[in-house]
Amino acid sequence: MFFEEIKQIVSTFREAVNLFLSRIFNKGVPIAEDMTTLILIGFAIFIILLCLFVWYRQHSRSLKSKAPEELSGRKKEKRLVQLEKEHAKTLELQIKEEEKLREEKESAKLAKAEQREKELQEKIASIEEERLHQQVLQREIEKTAETVETPDEVDSFLERLRKGVIKTRTQLQDNLAEAVLGRKEINEDLLDDLEEVLIGSDIGPETTQRILDAITEKVEREELSSPQVLQSEIQLEIQKIMSKTYAVLGTAERKPLILLFVGVNGVGKTTTIGKIAAQYRQQGKKVLMGAGDTFRAAAIEQLVEWSRRADCDIIQKEPGSDPSAVMYETVQKGIDEDYDVVICDTAGRLHTKKNLMEELKKMVRVIRKLIPDAPHEILLVLDATTGQNAIFQTREFMEATDLTGLIITKLDGTSKGGVVIGIVNEFDIPVRYIGVGEQVEDLRPFDAQQFTESIFA
Ligand code: GDP
Ligand code: MG
Repeated sequence: MFFEEIKQIVSTFREAVNLFLSRIFNKGVPIAEDMTTLILIGFAIFIILLCLFVWYRQHSRSLKSKAPEELSGRKKEKRLVQLEKEHAKTLELQIKEEEKLREEKESAKLAKAEQREKELQEKIASIEEERLHQQVLQREIEKTAETVETPDEVDSFLERLRKGVIKTRTQLQDNLAEAVLGRKEINEDLLDDLEEVLIGSDIGPETTQRILDAITEKVEREELSSPQVLQSEIQLEIQKIMSKTYAVLGTAERKPLILLFVGVNGVGKTTTIGKIAAQYRQQGKKVLMGAGDTFRAAAIEQLVEWSRRADCDIIQKEPGSDPSAVMYETVQKGIDEDYDVVICDTAGRLHTKKNLMEELKKMVRVIRKLIPDAPHEILLVLDATTGQNAIFQTREFMEATDLTGLIITKLDGTSKGGVVIGIVNEFDIPVRYIGVGEQVEDLRPFDAQQFTESIFA
């Protein structure tokens, strides 16, 4: 049966081949049965070979596909190692890169810091330089101050003197200028205004009248007509008043020269004695002090301190002892030990004014027992700041003793120094010294011209 079917297939095949061949060669070529069988066998072999080929291909492909798998295990390992190596290398590179970057950053930071440090150092250096410069400047200023000490001293004395009479100056200069403004002649009307100006300048009514009289006289004599020269006329008259002087005895004429200081409490007697003693010592004179203010222990100590400062000798007794006894002892020592100057301090306050004046008279008597024409100067010390009170004090002391001169202290503490003009004019007594401060050099012999100029210049 099976065989029959194959035979059938073979015959069909043969027919198909014949058909195929006839078509190709355009004529029928009958194929033998054997030939057909051979072709079939050949075909079968061909098919078998084909199958074998296909199977082989299939098998070899599976073999091939299996091999890489087997291979990849090792390769993988290798690859892994390689990858690891590469990774390590990359990592290393990365680290290196980072390190480099960090180093770069660090160095940039460092450079920045260095730059900043440099800038700071430069800043510090410039500040230090500035400080040194300031120091040098400061030193220069100090040096200048040191070198110009003398003119400065003079300036400050005049400045303080000018300050001491500022009110008098303002009144006399400004108000006078206002009064004469627009005036063509010196008439009654102008003289009335002038009186007002003078009264307001602290020089006192008597001095005002004296100046007005002098001006009126000149106007009448036709020596004066222009209101604009009134100021220089007043200045001239004031200088005349203040130029009052007396023959001051020096240490060459009298030895020892005896000076007695009087005045109420606190006006500056002890301080002024100290300053004058220091000035005489600077001239090389031998000076002795007498602590005549025995009323308070502090007053004695104060003079002892000044004697130390001025480098001179002093006679002192117990507080409460008789001041006349101190005077006697002091003058006696002055004579015995050949002193150039003997300066006596006194108390400014006793229980009553009468006591004070009696005490003064007694002291003068005691001194005169030893030296008949002594004291060679009896100086009343007045505090310029007390104003009109100074006039009252002058009157009291003038009645009690033979005052020879005035010492005006504390001109640096007032603006009404003009009051001195009135005192000098009224009591006909000269000013010997003026004080404008507490230092030795702040006390100067009175100079009428300097004083008047301080008011008008
Ligand atoms: P005394 O009581 O008359 O002996 O007066 P002091 O000599 O004790 O002086 C009284 C005060 O006045 C002290 O503090 C002095 O320093 C001060 N004094 C004295 N003279 C002057 C001066 O010319 N100007 C200033 N500002 N003070 C002065
Ligand atoms: Mg005193």
